[in-house]
Amino acid sequence: MRDFTLKSYQSLLVAFQRAGYQFQTFEEMMSQPIEGKSVVMRHDVDELAWNALKMAQLEKKHGIRATYFFRIVRQSNVPEVIRQIIELGHEVGYHYEDLALAEGDEKKAIETFKVNLSYFRKYYPVKSVCMHGSSTSKYDNRSLWKNHALSDFGLVGEPYMSVDFDKVFYLTDTGYAWDGGKFATRDIVESEFGLKFHLTSQIVDCIKAGKFPEKALILAHTLWTDSLVQWYGLHLREFFRNNLKLMAKNNRFVAKFYGKIVNFYWKKCE
Ligand SMILES: [Zn+2]
Repeated sequence: MRDFTLKSYQSLLVAFQRAGYQFQTFEEMMSQPIEGKSVVMRHDVDELAWNALKMAQLEKKHGIRATYFFRIVRQSNVPEVIRQIIELGHEVGYHYEDLALAEGDEKKAIETFKVNLSYFRKYYPVKSVCMHGSSTSKYDNRSLWKNHALSDFGLVGEPYMSVDFDKVFYLTDTGYAWDGGKFATRDIVESEFGLKFHLTSQIVDCIKAGKFPEKALILAHTLWTDSLVQWYGLHLREFFRNNLKLMAKNNRFVAKFYGKIVNFYWKKCE
């Protein structure tokens, strides 16, 4: 069976519900965390915004509210999608990358951050932000918070800074695998749960066996699709991307080459 389809996503949601887990949004976890078994579904809408809408509809069907972080760039920032996701009852946050876009210029970055945050607040009273990994940039977007506080902007949380990952189990589908962390550049979280999954069905089995942690924050990107063409195309792309990323970690030439490809890719999208 193909993994990372809407069907496998549904099997994950249903497994959690049958095992008595409650879903809450990221903001809710920050302000009123549920006692007992709970899961936060966080979606970074890096691209393919319309796929996000399909995931949002599926969650709504199961009475689940999730958190969608949108980037300011065109392939994520699709007003129609943002509006519909909010209408479905989900939460929206800003997936910021201002420091990378400003090439490390902190003053410029904080200015665009303010503008972009108020842009998203036209749609939703945004109270949480989450950094975009910007894997080809030498700037870590979180450095924005060295001289500024989230509360200065009326924000209550940033997943990478506000969550204790020794208490909340973190899972991410980076690179079409639940153990693809080795391919990630920045969106890495260290924890002591000692659990490892590759396929969604393995997580489902773990939940059914009652061995899944009580609290979890799950990052699912918007690459989950039932379309065969998109599924094969994306798997091929992720396969090459993962291997290039891995090589780029140890090889400056590959890193430069990879950076050029990514920049070209995003430019073509715009
Ligand atoms: Zn991202």
